[in-house]
Parts: sequence; structure tokens; C-alpha cells
Amino acid sequence: MIYRSYGRTGKQVSVIGFGGMRFEAIDDEEACVEMLVHAAERGINYFDTAPKYFGVKSEERFGAALRQLRRRDLPYYVSSKTFEASEKGIRNEIEQQLKRLDVETIDFYHAWCITDLESWRRRKARGLLDAFQRLRDEKLIGHICVSSHLIGDDIRELLDEGVFEGVLFGYSAYNFRTREAAFDAIRRRSIGCVVMNPLGGGLIPQNPDLFAFLSGEDNRSDDGARGQTIVQAALRFLVAHRDIAVTLVGFGNRKHIDEAVDAVEKFEALSSAELDQIKQSAAASFEGICTGCRYCLGECPEEIRIPQLMDAYNQLILRDEKEMISRLKDHWDVPMDEAARCVECGRCEDACTQHLSIIERLAKIAATGERNASTTS
Ligand code: SF4
Ligand code: SF4
Repeated sequence: MIYRSYGRTGKQVSVIGFGGMRFEAIDDEEACVEMLVHAAERGINYFDTAPKYFGVKSEERFGAALRQLRRRDLPYYVSSKTFEASEKGIRNEIEQQLKRLDVETIDFYHAWCITDLESWRRRKARGLLDAFQRLRDEKLIGHICVSSHLIGDDIRELLDEGVFEGVLFGYSAYNFRTREAAFDAIRRRSIGCVVMNPLGGGLIPQNPDLFAFLSGEDNRSDDGARGQTIVQAALRFLVAHRDIAVTLVGFGNRKHIDEAVDAVEKFEALSSAELDQIKQSAAASFEGICTGCRYCLGECPEEIRIPQLMDAYNQLILRDEKEMISRLKDHWDVPMDEAARCVECGRCEDACTQHLSIIERLAKIAATGERNASTTS
């Protein structure tokens, strides 16, 4: 395992972190705990969860595993988050989190999921920063961090608040161009940087040929370019970035942990020239991809299944119309005319972490549906 400094905190963190949002068997406590312990045995010391991952079960599994890590003297740092903004709300939340995690301090505590600067300003106005500072003084949290879905200059503006010791944001081989501005502030302010969603919500492993550029080769062999899997190539791309302290991987099972740790241990680091070459090769069309984060879920007054429809639209961007139609019909079982129910209220676009033009995309899907219906009738 490789360890890097987390900003100016003096903490050394593993370049691969355990993201607690994708357990395949969350109801099997023993299996979850075994995974977390296995990760620690393989050198992972950064463990990230949140109060709404599987309800509160992810934090509970973490709590059970951390007890074991302490018994076995395996080192760890724990990270969690809150949507709350008022001191009262945050204190209520953290009291429960500390109990579930069974720790006295949450090492890295995040103001969770900032999707636009306006909502950040509202949270700040409700006293979030003062509350976080008091929690840090009381040693209930170790460091003040923020988790962001901002893109472009907005993320730089957020980090230039100057109060954050760490940041967590989505960054991967398909969307790196829209997030590069963050690194300017990260370097200037020595902020600890953790990236999430390194596989684009499954998009990269599902489309290995399209992401063959990650290997620095034009074609990918059946067993993966350069003997590595596409997942490993995607992780190496991130580990090669020296400003990134931790790449969080949402592990579903033990095999995923081994694959990620092997990616770091078995392969030589990419040079900066190789990294630049890969970036230049990345197709511009990969930007604007739905990551399947599902933050739009529950927003739609028409109950349109937006994540499924936007996932299918990814196929239109990355492949062709036929693939989009097949994805909706065979994978999701969502009829294309569902897209036509959109009344353009805009709520989903406000919630979308990737700032996608969902309304426009739905109109295109609806038009495709109509065209197909008329040609088949
Ligand atoms: S803009 Fe359309 S899809 Fe989005 S929430 Fe409103 S009705 Fe639903
Ligand atoms: S449409 Fe946006 S918010 Fe919804 S799943 Fe896709 S990226 Fe996430």
C-alpha cells in the first residue's frame, strides 16, 4: 500500500480508501465486518461512510469493524458526513453517529454533498462552520471537511473559503476535465484531497473498450490492457495524481478490495508524461455522463425514473441510439414514452450532481420513442 499526507493534518492515509456505500450484503453483519477487517489487513486505513448509506446500517457495520481493528491494533481513520446545517441539528446527528461508529472522534467530518454555491451559502448562514469548529475544539471531530459535487470554478470558490482541511469530490477518468479547477485551491491551501466515484458509477468497467485509453494503448486485450483489468487501470490513473491523497472505492465484496489493492501494489506508478498522454486521449464526449449517484431520485413530481433514463442516455453518448433503446428495454424495463411525462419543472436538474441537461435529454429520448413507435406501427 502507498500512503500519502492528508493535507496539513500530519496524517498519513492509504491511497485506496474504503467507501461504505456499496456492500453487496449489508444485512450480513459478519460478512461486512470481515470485508472491513480484510481491507485493514491489506493496508487500507481510510474508511468512509455516511448516515444515509443503507439507512444507518453502513455506519453500524463500520462501528462493529472498528472495534475489531482496535482489538487487533490495526490503524484506521474514520470519515463521515452530515447534511445538517444548524448547530442543534449537527449535534443531534453526530451524537448518534459516534454511538453507531463506536468512536469518540470522527477523524474527517464532512459538510455533505454541496451541489451548488447558493445552497452552501444557506448552510453557512445557518451556522454550520461555527458548529464544526466547536465540534473540533471538543474533539468530537478531527478535521473540518466538505464533500462537493460542484464543477468548474465553483469548486475552487468553495475551497477558497479557507476553512476546509479536506475535500471529497467525484473525479475519474471520464469527468476529470470538469473538476481540474479544484486542484488549484487544493495545492494553494494544502487541503487533503479524497476522490470518489472512481469508476463512474460502473460506467468504466461496463465499457472497457471505450476506456482503453487508460492503458495508454489503442486496443485492450481480453484479459485487460497490460495485464491489468480496466478497474485497475482506472484506479492507477487516479493514484498517479499526486494531489489526490485517497481514492475511495465503494467495495461490494472482498474480491473488489483485492483488485483495488493489487492495482496499487502490483503496478509501477505512471509517469506524469504518461498521465498527460492519457488525459489527452480521453474523449471529450465522456463529459456530461450520468454517474448513477441517484441524487435526483424522489425529485420528480411525475415519478419519472430519471437515473435509469439518464443511464440509458449514457449509451447514446458513448455508443449509439440502438444501445440506448436496448438499455431501457432489456436492462431497465423502462418505456421510452415515460420521458414524455416531463413537465419541465427543473427540480431534477437542480439536484443533479453532474449538472446534466436532464430536460433536454428526456425530450430526445421521448422523440426517439415516438419515432420508433411510428416506424414500427
Ligand atoms: S424536470 Fe421533468 S424529469 Fe425533472 S423533476 Fe421536473 S418533471 Fe421530473
Ligand atoms: S441524473 Fe444526475 S443526479 Fe441523477 S443519477 Fe444521474 S448524475 Fe446523479
